[in-house]
Amino acid sequence: MTEGFSFLGTIKLKGCVDMQKPVLAIVGRPNVGKSTIFNRIVGDRVSIVEDMPGVTRDRIYSSAEWLNREFNIIDTGGIEIGDEPLLHLMRQQAEIAIDEADVILFLVDGKEGVTAADEEVAKLLYRSKKPVVLGVNKIDNPERKELIYDFYSLGMGEPYPLSGSHGIGLGDMLDAVFSHFPQQPEGEEDEETIRFCLIGRPNVGKSSLVNSILGKERVIVSNIAGTTRDAIDSEFTREGQKYTIIDTAGMRKRGKVYEYTEKYSVLRALKAIDRADVVCVVLNAEEGIIEQDKKVAGFAHEAGKAVIIIVNKWDAIEKDDKTLREFEQKIRDHFLYLSYAPILFVSAKTKQRLHALYPLINQVAENHALRIQTNVLNDVIMDAVAMNPTPTDNGKRLKINYATQVATKPPTIALFVNDPELLHFSYRRFLENRVRETFGFIGTPIRIIARKKN
Ligand code: GDP
Ligand code: GDP
Repeated sequence: MTEGFSFLGTIKLKGCVDMQKPVLAIVGRPNVGKSTIFNRIVGDRVSIVEDMPGVTRDRIYSSAEWLNREFNIIDTGGIEIGDEPLLHLMRQQAEIAIDEADVILFLVDGKEGVTAADEEVAKLLYRSKKPVVLGVNKIDNPERKELIYDFYSLGMGEPYPLSGSHGIGLGDMLDAVFSHFPQQPEGEEDEETIRFCLIGRPNVGKSSLVNSILGKERVIVSNIAGTTRDAIDSEFTREGQKYTIIDTAGMRKRGKVYEYTEKYSVLRALKAIDRADVVCVVLNAEEGIIEQDKKVAGFAHEAGKAVIIIVNKWDAIEKDDKTLREFEQKIRDHFLYLSYAPILFVSAKTKQRLHALYPLINQVAENHALRIQTNVLNDVIMDAVAMNPTPTDNGKRLKINYATQVATKPPTIALFVNDPELLHFSYRRFLENRVRETFGFIGTPIRIIARKKN
């Protein structure tokens, strides 16, 4: 039925601040310049992960930044919905924007003027009551500016002149977008709640797992403040620890065509990952590992979240004393970049080993948020350097002056060095391994960055 995958989200506490980033979606006819504008706004965000073969990046959803505030951005034009007539396509992309975004950038083509399809989109957006900012693209020079006045007829308020190709007008447009984003209330995220989600392709057993996980718990289901209107989180307390399973809405299909497209499921999964501390990547023991599993796992890794690999349906396969080891090895071979993620073999059906999930979630969440004292960290790094001297390049040797942890979630270590270019991948890996051997860090990626010492 579907090539996509769905997901389940984290749970959040009633009344606590939801720190999720606001979301902007771009809607508009094909060729008005949506992806050009998207790429302009996103800029050259290079992935921190250099070494991840097999992971294709989907440029339909990305984080972005404007005046030091982060937000997420969706290019609905990148969500292929199949061979739909233009008006159906537009309607579906507009619905996605309405469902998924806080503010919509409705993009039109200044060179072409108002078209029937634009008017159709305007009607849909108008009815939704979501804030809309109207951007008139391809206004490449000031003489063309008067072209924008026609677009007042769309009833979307002031049109903002833009030129995606030349990067003109983005600032004023984004100011207007930001004025409509929900105000982030003062205050911190509820640090005590562990937010987790389950992601994986269809039929791996995510819904069954959640039902089994929640079976005994008293669950409070809550709407997420603000945004996505049908996202439902489930929250519960177990042995004194609060948990939130993020957004189970992915399971409760509303029967819309676009819900079955791969890009849409990717989008939903990325949103869930974004809001989670711990991401459980679910595999199906019966079917083994396929390409799509790698893609899902890649997203979790890239996002820098704590990761657990769950192999479900362990009841359904023939086993001998080697089966588990072999499966584990297969996972390690396929997901090289997830070597830090613990693997749990379970059955949602028989509930076999499901009880082991909680201690694992607690442990990886703790590691993800762990902060190491600078002096302790320095001892470990300096011992490592003494054991395996820093590399040289063209006769120049890397010199590490000191190390300090600059961030958690994921733990991020800055090395202050003479020349950041000299910290090659293999030495970085060596240091990471030493840090892991000392502090554990099971279940969390670690980032090591080199900074030039002034
Ligand atoms: P999308 O289908 O809405 O994502 O549109 P694209 O971003 O792919 O752009 C469609 C075409 O319009 C491409 O040939 C772009 O180079 C061109 N284009 C995009 N922005 C501008 C602009 O500001 N000025 C002009 N003249 N062309 C643009
Ligand atoms: P989702 O699409 O990932 O949410 O998967 P579902 O939870 O809907 O499960 C897909 C199918 O797999 C259903 O028919 C379930 O009954 C079955 N299933 C789920 N978990 C298990 C399991 O642990 N063992 C077995 N044998 N079947 C399972």
